[in-house]
Amino acid sequence: MVKHNFMNIKDGTKAVWAGEEASLAFNATQVPVVLSVAYNYDDMDEWQDVALGLKPGHIYNRMTNPTVEAFEEKVRILEGAEAAVGFSSGMAAISSALYTFLRSGDRVVSVKDTYGGTNKIFTEFLPHIDVNVTLCTTGNHEEIEAEVAKGCKVLYLESPTNPTLKITDIERMVKAGKAVGALVIIDNTFATPINQNPIQFGVDIVIHSATKFLSGHADAMGGVVCGPKELMEKVYHYREINGATMDPWSAYLILRGMKTLKLRVRQQEKSAMEIARYLKNQKHVEEVFYPGLETHRNHHIAKKQMKGFGGIVSFVLKEEMEAIKILLPKLQYANRAGNLGAVETIYGPARTTSHVECTLEERKELGIPEGLVRISVGIEDTEDLIADLEQAFAHLESQLSFEL
Ligand code: PLP
Repeated sequence: MVKHNFMNIKDGTKAVWAGEEASLAFNATQVPVVLSVAYNYDDMDEWQDVALGLKPGHIYNRMTNPTVEAFEEKVRILEGAEAAVGFSSGMAAISSALYTFLRSGDRVVSVKDTYGGTNKIFTEFLPHIDVNVTLCTTGNHEEIEAEVAKGCKVLYLESPTNPTLKITDIERMVKAGKAVGALVIIDNTFATPINQNPIQFGVDIVIHSATKFLSGHADAMGGVVCGPKELMEKVYHYREINGATMDPWSAYLILRGMKTLKLRVRQQEKSAMEIARYLKNQKHVEEVFYPGLETHRNHHIAKKQMKGFGGIVSFVLKEEMEAIKILLPKLQYANRAGNLGAVETIYGPARTTSHVECTLEERKELGIPEGLVRISVGIEDTEDLIADLEQAFAHLESQLSFEL
């Protein structure tokens, strides 16, 4: 097959073609799922050369696998990174990146409302190994800069955040991090490589939960860490020994899903914008979080660093859980589930999705309202999604006024 040169090639084309040539066999047009755990070598010298990394090839699936490599290469090209390492889940990618670079006595600066699982690493697991963690108010750039200036090994960001869609100025944070020699890491799951390429702004390491938008079909788990070759060799070594390797079936499914990534994201964010505007006019809605809204606190930063605003909208219902219990079951074209980024629309409150691991008090401390509902907008027709919300809100209104 022709070897592609992706210079000046757009993201939609990269999403379809990148990373696949090396793994094609028998003139097939699609990457095979290679399930073999180990690889045979009749020639002992060749085996040794592959094992030592002197020759390309595979030894054992915990180390490398052709299908996983095709996935890694596709993400690498889309993110504009030197190297990428696939993982069994987004959390495996996040924890492995952090554990690769942090040692006892090191300091990490991050923000309060990262994804709930990430927050648990900061508040529960890293303190166990005497890593000092400082969590700043998300979106308060001055506070983050002041903490980073005190010195830190890692500055960890997420933008937009899950589930409150807060935006952090990536270029500004990179400047602060570089001034003290920190490694700047960002979770780019919500933006996707279609809407945000943090390496362009100087970020060292970009992480995705591939379970979400990259896969797009809610049927495979995965994660990926991208960055400079030298750093990714360390991340790869950690994965090889720690064992959170990506499954080849998942790699195949995500690889297939990624071919339509740009189409999906563009449709999802078109609907997300209209849904956000619709929600703003609902009397039971206290607040709407969507970086595409001009009223979003950091809309100007999102506009500067993102190519689109993404498919996630969150809103807060004034009557909190009472209203959530009435509204959500009424929706017809939606799953009520703890996931996001799929072709189907998904609704979920923070208490059963992004921050299920946290107590009520912890969610309060993190600034996550109890009435918050996250919508992961699917690829359905926009009019149908709005009509579905309309009938559900009419039902909510009738139920709440009936109770009065
Ligand atoms: N990062 C973000 C922003 C997420 O939303 C999630 C999961 O929801 C994760 C990481 C963790 O990914 P996974 O569930 O694939 O481990």
